Amino acid sequence: MRDICFIHSSSGKGADHWVIPAGICGIADILKKSNIKMVGINLALEKLLNHDFSFYDWLTKNRFEYFLIEIHWFVHLEQAFKNIDLIKKIYPSSKIIVGGLTASLFCKEIINSNNNIDFIIKGDSEEPLLDLLKKLDKGKDIYDVKNLIYKKDDKIIIYNSEYILENFKNISYGDITFMKNYKYLLYYPFPNASCKRSSYWLVNGRGCIYNCKTCDGAKEICNKYLGRSRLVKRSSEDVLEDIRNISKRFEVENINLTHDICSFGKDYYTKFLTEFSKINKVKLYNEFWQIPSTSFNNIIEEFDLGSRMHYAITAHSGNEKIRKEYGKKYTNNELIKVLEFCRKHNIEVTLFFSRNIIEETKETMLDTLKLIRKLKMMKIKTLKLVYDYIIIDPMSCIKERLSNGLMEFTKTDNDKLKFCYNDEIRKMVVNRNNRLNIIENKIVSEILEA
Ligand code: SF4
Repeated sequence: MRDICFIHSSSGKGADHWVIPAGICGIADILKKSNIKMVGINLALEKLLNHDFSFYDWLTKNRFEYFLIEIHWFVHLEQAFKNIDLIKKIYPSSKIIVGGLTASLFCKEIINSNNNIDFIIKGDSEEPLLDLLKKLDKGKDIYDVKNLIYKKDDKIIIYNSEYILENFKNISYGDITFMKNYKYLLYYPFPNASCKRSSYWLVNGRGCIYNCKTCDGAKEICNKYLGRSRLVKRSSEDVLEDIRNISKRFEVENINLTHDICSFGKDYYTKFLTEFSKINKVKLYNEFWQIPSTSFNNIIEEFDLGSRMHYAITAHSGNEKIRKEYGKKYTNNELIKVLEFCRKHNIEVTLFFSRNIIEETKETMLDTLKLIRKLKMMKIKTLKLVYDYIIIDPMSCIKERLSNGLMEFTKTDNDKLKFCYNDEIRKMVVNRNNRLNIIENKIVSEILEA
C-alpha cells in the first residue's frame, strides 16, 4: 500500500493554531495495522520553527499519492484550500481526501467550492478512510465507501449509510511519531499559546451528553449532523495503557484527556484514578464538563492525587443565568467551594470565562468581572484565570454569528469559501457595541492587571 500524507494547515494569520485533532493518532494507528504508513506535517508548526519553511519545496521532495487534509477548525479553511491547490498543481494525479468537523458540517459547500478535492469523509472516518484507500489502491469502485462525499459529472454523491464509531476496540492513540517534528508539537497543545510544559492530548471518548451552546461536540449537533446519538468511552484499561506508553516514550509532563472522566460516572473514574495513582510522573489534565462532583474530589483526596491533577473548568460567565444558558449548571458558590478544595489539595486549576457571549449586557459582564475580582482576592496560588474570546469551534459560533451578522460564510473574490478569523470577529464585536467594549476593556484591564 502507498503511504498517505496528513496535513494540518496553518491558519495563515498572526497567532496560529498548532494543535492537531487528537483523533488523528487513532487513524494513523488503524492505517499502520493495515500496513499503510501515515506521514504527518503541521504547517503551522513548521512555519513557527522555521520562518522560511517552504511547503512547495517540502512537497517536491516528498512524493505521495494520497493526501489527507484536515479541515477540523474553521480557521484553517482558507489555507487548507491553498494547500490543496498547490498539491494538485505539483501532483495532478494525487487523491485529495478531506476530513474534520468543519469539513463534515459544511461538506456540500466545501466540495462545491474546490474542484481539486476528490473526497470528503463526513463524520467518523476510521473505517471509511481505510476502506477508501484499499479500494483506490486496488483500482476498485468506491461507490459503497461509507460517509464518503464526492462529485461525479458535476453532481454531489453522498453515501448515506453512515458509519459511526461505536466501539474503540483496540485502537491506540499513544503514538504521535508519524508527525514531523512531533517533539516540538508536544509543547504547543493549545491554540494561540505556547507552553513551557509538554503535554499530550489523549483521546478517551467520543461524543458528549451535554448541549453547550458554543460547542460542536455537543450532543444535539453530533446527532443532527453526524448521526452520533451517544457518548462512547474508551475502556479505562486502554487509556491507561496509552498513558503508560506515552510517559515511557515521550518526555511529557501532562496528559490532557479529550473527555471529562468525571462525567463518565463513578465506577469509571474510581477504577481509572485507582490505577492512575500507580503510574509515576505524569499529571492529568481534565476538562470538566460541569464542576467536579464531591465523590470525584473524595477519590482525589483518598489517593492523594491533588498535585498530580490539573482541573480545567469553563464557567463562561459570572452571571449564573448566562452560564446555565451556555450549558453549565452550577452556581458561583458551588464553583468557589471547588476552588477552595483545589487550594487545600494543591490542585492546579484553570478557570475560563468567555468575552464574546452573544447575550452579554453591561450588567452580565459586570457580574463576571465581580466574580473574577472575588476569586483574585481569594489568592489561590494554583488558580489561573482566563478571560478571552471563544473562537475555535467550527459551527456553533458561526451559526449564531451568521444570524447576527457577526461572521460571514461566503465566497471571496477568488471564489473560495471564507470564514472570518478571530481578529475580524474581535473587530466586529467591537463594532457591534463599541460603547460596551470600551467600558469592558477598561474594567477588564483594571481588574486583570490589579
Ligand atoms: S463544551 Fe464540553 S460539555 Fe459542553 S457540549 Fe461540548 S464537550 Fe460537551
